[in-house]
Amino acid sequence: MRIKILGSAAGGGFPQWNCICPNCSAMRAGTLKARPRTQAQVAVSPNPSCWLLLNASPDLRQQILSTPDLNPSSATRGTPISTVLLTSADVDSVMGLLHLREFQPLHILSTVSVRRILTEENGLFRVLARSNPPVKWDAMPLDRLMPLVPPSAPGKKDGLFYKAVPLLGNSPDYVSDSLRGSLPPEEAVVGLVLIHKEKKFFYGPSLPGVGEEWRRSVDDCDLALLDGTFWKDDELITAKRSRKTAREMGHSPLSGDRGLLRQPFRLGKTRRVLIHINNTNPVLNEESPEHRAVREAGWEIAYDGMEFEL
Ligand SMILES: [Zn+2]
Repeated sequence: MRIKILGSAAGGGFPQWNCICPNCSAMRAGTLKARPRTQAQVAVSPNPSCWLLLNASPDLRQQILSTPDLNPSSATRGTPISTVLLTSADVDSVMGLLHLREFQPLHILSTVSVRRILTEENGLFRVLARSNPPVKWDAMPLDRLMPLVPPSAPGKKDGLFYKAVPLLGNSPDYVSDSLRGSLPPEEAVVGLVLIHKEKKFFYGPSLPGVGEEWRRSVDDCDLALLDGTFWKDDELITAKRSRKTAREMGHSPLSGDRGLLRQPFRLGKTRRVLIHINNTNPVLNEESPEHRAVREAGWEIAYDGMEFEL
């Protein structure tokens, strides 16, 4: 399976248009050793004619245009993108669905809660139903291995499978209290395990850090792309960007005793890569001690254009 990182930053991208944090300011001034990044977006392919998107970022149109694999072939209208899997109803995860409204039949997989948030309270997403056939939403069951792309021929073992792993976060703050009250909390945020020819890949751009079950799923994978949003729990408070801690926003920070870098992952075959990196995070600065600490702890830092072949 091929895995392409089309975008590696958290909401706002890097640099963020209205931000004057040390990273964004230095990036604009050209004095920072760092790469610009678009908002987190991953594409996965089990075979050259089929691509799936993991979430749909606000930068999706530009990300598709700059990725030849996702462009229409000269003979047919439309793209090899067939399916979108959503891990939450966060704006950064779903806004790009509106870029996909140009009459392309699509299959969207999400928990029932995420679908209800988008279709019952946010009528704008009904624009996807204008295609012929209209968008097809399917419910993602939790903790169950499900077929995603069938094998290339009967009897062949090259089908793609997925499993949604509940991560116990919160629904986004734009959801009404009445709808929120009716949604099971385990459906708010999920991680995804994708399995192809016995190779396993875990995608978790938001790790609220509650519970331990998901860590076992990560240990079992060959590649894990995990939540690298914040370095410190009070990062946005210090930057005067929010009154909320990282954990209150559903992102376990990287540093600290309970931070992601100290989580007791089994060392071994899993290649661990940070994604969804906020523009305030000092790991973006390739000359910072935090960047070095991440690399010395055995982690990689995703960048736009990074690719994996499993
Ligand atoms: Zn910034």
